[in-house]
Amino acid sequence: MPPMKKTEKKPTAKRLSRSENMRRITGKNTTPELIVRRLLFQQGFRYRLHRPELPGKPDIVFVSRRKVIFVHGCFWHAHSCRIAHQPRTNEGYWSPKLRRNQERDTRHLAALKAAGWKVLTIWECELKDVRSVERKLLRFLNNTKERRKG
Ligand SMILES: [Zn+2]
Repeated sequence: MPPMKKTEKKPTAKRLSRSENMRRITGKNTTPELIVRRLLFQQGFRYRLHRPELPGKPDIVFVSRRKVIFVHGCFWHAHSCRIAHQPRTNEGYWSPKLRRNQERDTRHLAALKAAGWKVLTIWECELKDVRSVERKLLRFLNNTKERRKG
């Protein structure tokens, strides 16, 4: 039998404390964002990060294409998925806060669009299927010509 080695196991969500969890979800350079950046980099795209002059400080910015990508944590940005709706204590504290976050996101999105930016949001939960996110990114970035529907 091989010796029991302490390997660097990824901590499961269950084992993480609330604050650790929050830090992972809300901080810059969080894992979901790194996954998206790695995908883009592998596809040969180059980008800027967290431009403070743009509404909402988008995570990933393609200046010449005039496109931005947000990578959103589901809880923090109040996504309509299961991850975002795990039962939590202190609901009275979080709900208004999360609603404000959501409203802020909506405002930022509108401001970016008004300024002629194309915006793609990748949600944390979508990254369970990395291939599908990759397709989405490629579609978004390669679609430089305006395609009008209907
Ligand atoms: Zn989600």
